[in-house]
Amino acid sequence: MGAYRIPDWLTDLLECPECRRSRLVREDDRYTCRHCGSTHPVVNEVPLLMPASAVEDGARLISAHLGDLDLASVERALGSALRFRLADPWLRSEFTNILDRYESVFAGHSASPGEAERRRPFEPVAEYFNPRFEPGRETFRSFRIRNNTPHVLASEGEKPFNVSYKITGPNGFETEGVRSRFPIPLKPGGELTVPVRIKAPDREGDYRISVLIVQEFVGWYEESPIFVGELRVESGVEATPHLIRPPHKGYFDFEEDLRQCGLVIERAVDMVRERRPDAGVIRVAELACGHDPQIMRHYQPGTQVVGFDLCWAQVQFASLIFQKKWPAHDDRYAFVSGDVFNAPFKAKSFDVIVISAALHHFSNTVEALKLMKDMLAPGGRIVLLREPGAVAPDDPTYIRELTNGFNEQQFVLPEYETMFQRTGLRPIYEQLDFECSYKTILVTTD
Ligand SMILES: [Zn+2]
Repeated sequence: MGAYRIPDWLTDLLECPECRRSRLVREDDRYTCRHCGSTHPVVNEVPLLMPASAVEDGARLISAHLGDLDLASVERALGSALRFRLADPWLRSEFTNILDRYESVFAGHSASPGEAERRRPFEPVAEYFNPRFEPGRETFRSFRIRNNTPHVLASEGEKPFNVSYKITGPNGFETEGVRSRFPIPLKPGGELTVPVRIKAPDREGDYRISVLIVQEFVGWYEESPIFVGELRVESGVEATPHLIRPPHKGYFDFEEDLRQCGLVIERAVDMVRERRPDAGVIRVAELACGHDPQIMRHYQPGTQVVGFDLCWAQVQFASLIFQKKWPAHDDRYAFVSGDVFNAPFKAKSFDVIVISAALHHFSNTVEALKLMKDMLAPGGRIVLLREPGAVAPDDPTYIRELTNGFNEQQFVLPEYETMFQRTGLRPIYEQLDFECSYKTILVTTD
């Protein structure tokens, strides 16, 4: 019985994040690129596959800065500082945030002065505006906004900022919309996705909508619109033929929601197998998998699975959990840490790509879906699990996560429809559990 070691088949899928050639080989505690010579560390049988420019070695930087201190000792000091933390949450960062304290050592780049002034005060960053609305119905559309002003945009105080809109009808008649709050204050230079409540006109027809920031008692920022586009009011647009809404009643049941995730993964793997009965092994990846990947929790026989996440420590925890749970010499799984925007995999490597409760954390979900599509083998399936399928702007968990610095976003189902269309994807199965937990299986349309 030997210890778990990254299976050899992973090497066939990998591409060097530095030179993008498939020349990575495993050597002891690292992967080395036979083409460009770059090396990538492996810890707990999880490689960190990022280009050198994307990673700073804090131990090396501190060692150099403090007069060539012994590197191993500096590494020990940093590890111990992460291991222990202060019980008092207000003092924690003083104790732990050691790398950031030496930030001046790692002098970064700053935007040239004047760049901010040339920009618009409020910059639209992303939207998934589905122009179709039911007559008279109130719903949401989300807009991601960058604040280029030197002011905090907050929906409280004497002259609060809000997001609203103006709708112009076929006859040129203009109406003002309801106000929507910034869920949390938006700092200068920051970005935030704001769910904007929109009430469609009562009469069917084609309208124009301008989404605008309004400062109460000051005025509308007409010169810096967040979105301008068409709004189409017609009856019957909300019907989604594929959508299954299981008859769950009452409060959100986490265990049942997880069980449903397993059924959707099984369905996607079965679809690939039905399409290609002679496919042999089916390769499954989960992006942003964290320490408890769905593809491991709901492992499907006959698959090889790769868990992938930006957080190296978390995928190491995942690897350690399964090294303990599953038999040694297990060659069904591998974990990799890296950046999905420079993912260290060959194009079209996976038959099924899963993402669970993470797509909505990307600042631009269409960009993220396009990356997933590039990784997908012909005839493959993309599976979204546990993505928010409803908007609740006052939900305390949503506000708390935003306050803690997570990029929380919520979307209504017509916005997903727009995301998929823009990516060249089409849902072939959709499910909404507890009226909020969206799950879907997607195929490419081109
Ligand atoms: Zn290389």
